[in-house]
Amino acid sequence: MKQKLLGMMLLSVFSLFPIQKAQATGPSDLEPRGIFTVVIDPGHGGIDSGAVNEWLGIFEKDLNLEVARAAHARLLELGVHAVMTREGDDYMEIVERTDLAKSIHADLLVSIHHDTDQDWGDGAHLIHSIHEGPSLNLAEEIGAAIVSQTGQELRSFSPYWFQSGMFEGEKDDYYGILRRSTMPAVIVEAAYLNAHNIQAVDTPEKRALMGRAIADGIYAAIRRDFTGIVTYKGIETHYDPKTNTRLVEVEAVMGN
Ligand SMILES: [Zn+2]
Repeated sequence: MKQKLLGMMLLSVFSLFPIQKAQATGPSDLEPRGIFTVVIDPGHGGIDSGAVNEWLGIFEKDLNLEVARAAHARLLELGVHAVMTREGDDYMEIVERTDLAKSIHADLLVSIHHDTDQDWGDGAHLIHSIHEGPSLNLAEEIGAAIVSQTGQELRSFSPYWFQSGMFEGEKDDYYGILRRSTMPAVIVEAAYLNAHNIQAVDTPEKRALMGRAIADGIYAAIRRDFTGIVTYKGIETHYDPKTNTRLVEVEAVMGN
């Protein structure tokens, strides 16, 4: 019964998935290991409001959730299996978010945030793992989609923030969600909450557009990067667009 159900799930996902990309390039004798899965993580929640625009009474946690819901819906529309870390206004520790992603063997994780209401903030920026590779490419594709599909620009200084540069000589990521993730992961700071930059997300329509752009960027990154074998933090993934499955999943011994 379980096998039948899984077969039906694979079939339905396959029929929704419109990628026409050339054949996967990896070894052909590998068995599928499950559906390629994206985790969308709306940052903060519950007692943790994140950044606040007190003048407008806007909390970052609410913006994050609304944009994340739009991104999630768009991924499903594109035929990509996507899971949210929180569906409501719930508090979650960072480790709970990354544990969830690991437990479902997620292939990508995108954490959605908005930044401070300080005046100097002037655009979206994306923070990727110091491990780069698929993580950097994911950041680039999401950034490009935000610029092309919304009125939002990338921040005028260092739009892609290399975490290794934060503390000279550090061998691991500064941000917990990137450090604790075992799959390529990116933090999206979609807008600053100051009076000027909040205009990128100050209506439900603009928030829907932002979420859609983030999802389209994720989709572009999947097509760009995961049709061959990708190694990230010692874990290999190989995506087969024909069946929407990952073919290789090698667990590696990770540090903390
Ligand atoms: Zn945040």
